[in-house]
Amino acid sequence: MMSRLVYLFLFLVYNFNIALAKNPSVIIVGAGPSGIAAATKLLENSVTNITILEAEDRIGGRIHTVEFGDTFVDLGAEYCHGEKGNIVFTLANNLGLLEHSDPLSSENNKIYDSKGSAIDSELALELKSTLNTYDDVDTTGNASLGDAFLKKYNVTVLKKYTNEEQNLEVATDAIKMLQDLIVMHEGSFTWQQPAAGRHYTACEGDQALTWKRGGYRIILDILMKSYPNPDQKLPIDDKILLTKKVNKVIWNDNGVVVRCSDNSSFTADHVIVTTSVGVLEKNKASLFEPSLPKEKLNAIEATGFNGIMKIIIRYPQKWWKDDDVNFFFLWRKRDLFKIIDEFPDGPRKDGVSWASFISAIVKVPNNANVFVVWVSGELVPEIEKVSEDVLLRGCNYVIKKFLGKDYNVTDADKILRSQWNTNPNFLGTYSYEKVGYFKEDFSYQAQLAEPLVDNKGKPIVLFAGEATHPTLYSTVHGAISSGLREAGRIMDLKK
Ligand SMILES: Cc1cc2nc3c(=O)[nH]c(=O)nc-3n(C[C@H](O)[C@H](O)[C@H](O)COP(=O)(O)OP(=O)(O)OC[C@H]3O[C@@H](n4cnc5c(N)ncnc54)[C@H](O)[C@@H]3O)c2cc1C
Repeated sequence: MMSRLVYLFLFLVYNFNIALAKNPSVIIVGAGPSGIAAATKLLENSVTNITILEAEDRIGGRIHTVEFGDTFVDLGAEYCHGEKGNIVFTLANNLGLLEHSDPLSSENNKIYDSKGSAIDSELALELKSTLNTYDDVDTTGNASLGDAFLKKYNVTVLKKYTNEEQNLEVATDAIKMLQDLIVMHEGSFTWQQPAAGRHYTACEGDQALTWKRGGYRIILDILMKSYPNPDQKLPIDDKILLTKKVNKVIWNDNGVVVRCSDNSSFTADHVIVTTSVGVLEKNKASLFEPSLPKEKLNAIEATGFNGIMKIIIRYPQKWWKDDDVNFFFLWRKRDLFKIIDEFPDGPRKDGVSWASFISAIVKVPNNANVFVVWVSGELVPEIEKVSEDVLLRGCNYVIKKFLGKDYNVTDADKILRSQWNTNPNFLGTYSYEKVGYFKEDFSYQAQLAEPLVDNKGKPIVLFAGEATHPTLYSTVHGAISSGLREAGRIMDLKK
């Protein structure tokens, strides 16, 4: 009798374990592209016991497509960068959703200075080509991107104009514009923060594909299979819990308990944490129990995460020419300090107005009268707090100052702005590799991706998100690939 009971017990435990291994429970923290990608891959592979906890009241994370007047605009990710090896391109191109656009580095941009003059075409070409190849710098010696860039700029551009006083002055003043535009690509506040070296590898092909309709949000629909055929949507809706802010991840060899700020808690075999590295940095001491290991903390420390700001404006009528796409703004040094008198509203830094942190306006493709005003630099978190009224007046003031002589610029009448840096669920825009940490043969991103495992090596706490991708960090395609990677890690346990 006894032996039959033991047998029955062992039989139940065995089958329970098989069931567990076949359908483990998984909590995903964050419903950005990496979290949604992980969830959809798990669902497609019959791992159905999943719960996605999202702090915001929407899914998408740093993909945030918003209705603006009679059109859609992206407050977060906007471009699909590259084709080969790019999961976004692979998923969207066959559906005919992508088209070429003119990004910040386009040859078609015009550069104006704060006196209202278009920059001499030869110098403008020189500045644009410098910008196009800004990361092609000497990476030996652990220099910052800014220092390495300036070293090259001195030789390739400034030296060329040594005997042309006027061009030399403009090319020297252009350094601020170049820094502003470069940090826009990098996501840092200054160009002294990123390392000159990088592991980022651009996917071959068009670096500036945009969405013909609907904005970047459609990639989430493609992942969830609700596009192109809504009937084929994966059963994901009831697994996503919005406004569930996770503030504790407690784990041991038996699994994980995840607690939220509303005192609800969830248990599972595994958790995939997809929050931005900014959120990890801010909450690293309180979010995990036991605390994160030293290697993980080092990886967080080595990863830079600041941010840029987008202000989206609409004009009631067109004032630009048909072939105009983007305008870059080159602040002349002496104008920088004068504008406080002309436009005194809003924050300032070292005596310089926030408005001088506007360095470009970029036409939004397929949106006839809408521009994105790009703002970058150390004042961004302060600028995010400025009222919409002041922001709109500041944009109107700057655009008229630069373009008012050549164009009959009217006032924009509608505005929308991003607040990524001050939103506690993001605390920045995209990650970069910090100066002082870059090592050619070591990946802090891979270290960030390493799961925390039980005593048998089984992963319990897994990490996804753009900053965990060794070569495609900072992008949506990197984020999606990282989510698929971590879902794969859980599915491997079933084999
Ligand atoms: C302004 C801007 C422009 C960009 N432009 C481009 C571009 O053109 N092309 C491109 O490829 N990429 C671009 N990016 C980067 C791209 O958007 C990101 O790399 C990508 O969206 C990151 O996805 P993720 O899933 O890693 O993180 P996220 O999108 O940040 O998702 C993480 C989720 O976790 C949630 N969360 C955070 N904390 C908690 C918590 N405690 N509890 C529960 N949930 C939490 C967040 O709310 C968020 O939804 C841009 C980003 C920004 C902000």
